[in-house]
Amino acid sequence: MFAKILIANRGEIACRVMRTARRMGVATVAVHSDADAGALHVAMADEAVRIGPAPAAESYLVAERIIEAALATGAQAIHPGYGFLSENPDFVEAVEAAGLVFIGPSAKAIRAMGLKDAAKRLMDRAGVPVVPGYHGEAQELVVLAGKASEIGFPVLIKARAGGGGKGMRRVDTPEEFSDALASARREAKAAFGDDRVLVEKLIATPRHIEVQVFGDNHGNVVHLFERDCSAQRRHQKVIEEAPAPGMSQEMREAMCEAAVTAARAISYSGAGTIEFIVDATEGLRPDRFWFMEMNTRLQVEHPVTEMVTGIDLVEWQLRAAAGEVLPLAQEEINLSGHAFEARIYAEDPTRDFLPAIGTLHHLGFPETLPGGAELRVETGVRQGDAISPFYDPMIAKLVVHAADRPSALAALGAALAGTKVAGSIVNTPFLAALAADPDFAAGNVDTGLIARSQATLTALPSPEPRHIARAVLAAAGIAIRPGAADPWDTLAGYAHFHAPAKSIDLFVGEERVAASVSMADARHARIQLEEGTFTLPLSDASNETALWPGHVSIFEGVHAHHFALDDPFVRAETAAIGGDAIRAPMPGLVKIVRASAGSRVEKGQPLLVLEAMKMEHTMTAPHDGTIAEIANEGAQVAEGSVLVRFEEE
Ligand code: ADP
Ligand code: ADP
Ligand code: MG
Repeated sequence: MFAKILIANRGEIACRVMRTARRMGVATVAVHSDADAGALHVAMADEAVRIGPAPAAESYLVAERIIEAALATGAQAIHPGYGFLSENPDFVEAVEAAGLVFIGPSAKAIRAMGLKDAAKRLMDRAGVPVVPGYHGEAQELVVLAGKASEIGFPVLIKARAGGGGKGMRRVDTPEEFSDALASARREAKAAFGDDRVLVEKLIATPRHIEVQVFGDNHGNVVHLFERDCSAQRRHQKVIEEAPAPGMSQEMREAMCEAAVTAARAISYSGAGTIEFIVDATEGLRPDRFWFMEMNTRLQVEHPVTEMVTGIDLVEWQLRAAAGEVLPLAQEEINLSGHAFEARIYAEDPTRDFLPAIGTLHHLGFPETLPGGAELRVETGVRQGDAISPFYDPMIAKLVVHAADRPSALAALGAALAGTKVAGSIVNTPFLAALAADPDFAAGNVDTGLIARSQATLTALPSPEPRHIARAVLAAAGIAIRPGAADPWDTLAGYAHFHAPAKSIDLFVGEERVAASVSMADARHARIQLEEGTFTLPLSDASNETALWPGHVSIFEGVHAHHFALDDPFVRAETAAIGGDAIRAPMPGLVKIVRASAGSRVEKGQPLLVLEAMKMEHTMTAPHDGTIAEIANEGAQVAEGSVLVRFEEE
């Protein structure tokens, strides 16, 4: 086994790899950008090396810097995690040329699967069922449009270099083909520097079921059963589980066998995933699954497989890379219970899942779950850390395991409700709504479920007067004596000379609410709002609340209500944002402008496309109006800068 390895990644996956390395007695080296100098993965590692400035292209994607860091620290092998350089065969070759071991498959295997079109041709030859489609070299619009008609609409255009759901467009009619192709190409070019595409049949009632495979350098290949990742939004996984609901023994055997065949066809070594698309129109049937792609790395959702098999996949990766034989044979690998993983992101589901940033002023996870269910929290951040615009805005993965699917689902709900975040907007209420969805609960999940129910799944309760009262009570504490251990000593003290009333003003959304607090008795406070008077126990001031700069947050189950305190700084900021303008929610590039100064627009009309975090975000008119000013195409904009300003009506 290696004495020391370098982890060429950041965030939760870097931390997760280090945990196993440490348990195995392997020393760890972290690499980091300037933005991550104080990050958890750096703190966890035995040694850390700075590799460049914040942008990934100047740090986590610079192969030479990472290899230099490994050589300088005496690391013998490099674990790439997922994303970044994990599926880059040139990196693998450079690592090996430097005399180091790449913890993953060979460059040759990665290359064979790296481009979806070539991979599909290869799998077809190996006898693995492949989605019908055009996987050839020709890229002219007329050829592709012709192939689409031959395949039959609806079709899916996919970037051949694609990943993370990017560069993919569904096309329902021949008329839409040309625009969809242009848009897919634009996104593919920006994300992968390769705008070539393939066209394939769009599978009806699609379910995404993938098989975890593992190979060693001695010709052994096994599978670790399937994961279901059908709960997706824009082709990105949201909640994953193992095993797949409704899976029959016959179908499982057919899929796992096809996966092992696929891995053997490229003499695969290390952890890999064969992704299949399944037509679930008539339930799961062994003749209705097709190879989609292979991910030649550890997958984000690998923990659900670990939970149901009891196998540590990172340990197996290290062993396979060190030349050992796989620890278990196929018949020794068993399934036990049911596991779910939910990806908690800094994003705003109510604004079409716009990625968010911010400092996690409050971050709390449950310690245990009811009913003896197992919980694993995979995270790369701590309270006080920031979600920056530079990297994937994932905050944590909640992984639960229980005896059966209903208990595991209940455990997932409890884990989400016990997760409290303030300082950035998070998707936990959406995840909880999805987990509670009747179709999801019944295992009737196809990849369109979220889109069909988006409005219901993203609906949020408005704060009610009782929430505001609790916020006022919590805020009164800091307003009276900042930093006091028990602010209620102070307020109770006032009661000795005259009826105390402390006014607290805060913002409920844009609206300013005036309140006052007084002591009802030694243990209760009276909070006066326009809507009525509330008497709350003083203990409510700390229970399920978080105070953070300029704000107070109230937690109730999976929901959080955040209120800005009315201080002059907050007021100035609110005034600046409140104007009749659309501001950039994050730094980005203005890709397309669809309106001009002086034009009259209707509510909901797309005005421009902002590319941020490698995704396109369409900004629409919030109301009818006339445009006074609009950003220029190609402009790089800072967060908060005005993209569109409306004429005063
Ligand atoms: P998974 O099935 O593991 O979720 P994805 O394809 O969605 O696989 O990608 C896994 C992770 O890698 C995600 O965090 C995604 O943002 C990132 N990722 C995927 N493709 C790329 C790429 N080409 N460059 C950088 N990051 C990528
Ligand atoms: P990526 O590399 O971005 O992960 P995939 O080829 O794995 O690309 O596809 C991502 C997702 O898109 C799948 O999980 C599935 O939901 C959907 N998808 C892909 N191919 C098809 C298809 N032929 N029909 C229907 N949905 C598809
Ligand atoms: Mg995929």
